[in-house]
Order: sequence, then C-alpha cells, then structure tokens
Amino acid sequence: MKPAPFRYVRPGTVAEAVAALAAAGGEARPLAGGQSLVPLMNLRLARPTVVVDLNRVGELERLAVEDGWLVIGAMVRHRRLATDPLVARHAPLLAEAARWIGHGAIRARGTIGGSLAHADPAAELPCAAIALDAELSVDGPGGGRTVAAAGLVDGAFSTRLGGGELITAVRVPLAAGARRWGFAELARRHGDFALVLAAATTGDGVAGVTLGGVAGAPLRVEVEGGLDEAGIPAVAARCRDACHPGDDVHATAAWRRAMVEVLVTRVLRQALPGR
Ligand SMILES: Cc1cc2nc3c(=O)[nH]c(=O)nc-3n(C[C@H](O)[C@H](O)[C@H](O)COP(=O)(O)OP(=O)(O)OC[C@H]3O[C@@H](n4cnc5c(N)ncnc54)[C@H](O)[C@@H]3O)c2cc1C
Repeated sequence: MKPAPFRYVRPGTVAEAVAALAAAGGEARPLAGGQSLVPLMNLRLARPTVVVDLNRVGELERLAVEDGWLVIGAMVRHRRLATDPLVARHAPLLAEAARWIGHGAIRARGTIGGSLAHADPAAELPCAAIALDAELSVDGPGGGRTVAAAGLVDGAFSTRLGGGELITAVRVPLAAGARRWGFAELARRHGDFALVLAAATTGDGVAGVTLGGVAGAPLRVEVEGGLDEAGIPAVAARCRDACHPGDDVHATAAWRRAMVEVLVTRVLRQALPGR
C-alpha cells in the first residue's frame, strides 16, 4: 500500500519543527526513524496531512554528559545507543535494551525519541528509561517542559504528549546510571518484539523492576529497603501478582504472568551486588 497524500516539511531546527507542527493544527506528525510511522502510513492506519521530518535537525542528535545527566537527543538511533561509549559508561542498561530491538536495519534507523513517543507496550526503551528514572525534554507550542519517563505513557500506543509536542531529549541521571542493573526479555526469536521483558536496578537501599509486554503501559514495581538473594522470590511473586495481561495470539495471560516471575528473578539476580 501507499500512504494517503501528505505535505512533507524538512526543518533544520527544533524551533522550525515545532512551528511546522503547530501550523498544521494537530494534523501533523513528526517523522524520526520511520520504522513505525511509515508502515502505519502505508497501511493507512496513520493519515497525517503534514509530515515533519526531523532527520535534518542536528541538535536532536547530541549525546553528552551535562550537569549530572547523560543527555541523549531524541534522534539518537538505537544502534548508537547500543555502541556509544558514553551510553556504555553512564547508562549500560539502555545500551543493553537497545541491542534487543528488532534487527540491524531497524536499529540503524529507529530513534530513542520515536520509540518513546510510539509507546509500543512491548518496546524495550520506554521500560529502560523508566528503570533509570529518566526525564524527557519536551518542546511544543506552549514552550518547553520536562516529563518523567514514568509519566509519559498512558496506555498502548498512547502518551501524555500534547498536540504538536516534540520529545527533544532523554535525560538519564548519572546517579541512576551508576546503579546495578539487570535486563532480560523473552521473544520467539531474537529481534522479535518481546512477549515479556523486565529491567531492574538496585542501589542506595532501593530496588525497582519495570515490566514490559504485560500491560498497555510499562509497569513499575518498587522495592523498598535492601534486597538480597533470599528476598528475590517474594519480589518476583509480587511482580507476577501486579500484572494483569490479557490472552492474545502470541501468549496466554497465565504464561506471561509465570514468565514475569522467571524474568524478575533473573534480572534481580543480575542486579545484586557481587554478581
Ligand atoms: C520489523 C520491525 C521490528 C521491530 N522490532 C522492534 C522491537 O523489537 N522493539 C522495539 O522497541 N521496537 C521495534 N520496532 C520499532 C522500532 O524500534 C521503531 O524505530 C520505533 O518504534 C519508532 O522509532 P522511530 O524513530 O522509527 O519513529 P517513527 O516511526 O518515525 O515515529 C514513531 C511515532 O513517534 C512519533 N515521533 C517520532 N519522533 C518523535 C519525537 N521526537 N517527539 C514526538 N513524537 C515523535 C511519530 O510521529 C510517530 O507517531 C520494530 C520495527 C520494525 C519495522
């Protein structure tokens, strides 16, 4: 299929991109890696009248450490997340999560901003961003604002971004990046969308698990106080009980919940000190 007709705009700055989105009055969509938007347009499930291509907006590609944050521009590709030394040093959980996304061609085009904005319930990066207490810099017709990654997604393929708002960067606190972490997912084949995924971080007397593939939005389960090997089964059972996935063509709800327990055990073991 071919997409419905649309006007194509290629801004050079964030300000121009925001203006182009605003001018279209809610009928425009930003184009990042195109790995989700283009198929949706070809199937005519998305019919934007204006496509605002972000691929020439250089400021969206920065990746730097600034004032205690790892700042990752929205147009940083999955492949760069997986291989960049700054990400490896300050947010290794994010690098690992990116390695699980699709295949090489998809990782070469897909972007962190696009993945977060697309909000696929089985996507790796929204869960990794939440696990790391990341914040998003957002720009829009009303100016700039900051959104916690944990507050972005409100359901499957749905976010709390306002009309014409653009994610410009993902900011990971270096303190969270320094915590111990674990990541695991189950898919039919490596590169397929996750059936269930789990990310864990531990440190500073707190631990948390973020689950994907088990609800419309990523599910975060906090663990107060210290965690040791003996405490893992109770946390894994709590995570299992917190999930209420539905049956679908890929897996039953019961299987998904059982696998949550398995994966949470695995990622918490990875994240315990001395492992
Ligand atoms: C075969 C295949 C397998 C895949 N497997 C996986 C997988 O295993 N895991 C996974 O997570 N993903 C997977 N993907 C999706 C891939 O990760 C996409 O890259 C990602 O979902 C969207 O990123 P994008 O940069 O391509 O965004 P686009 O497709 O360009 O855009 C996606 C949506 O986000 C909006 N958008 C884009 N950028 C911004 C921004 N900066 N601010 C606000 N809105 C924005 C767009 O308007 C659109 O609505 C797969 C895709 C394919 C085709």
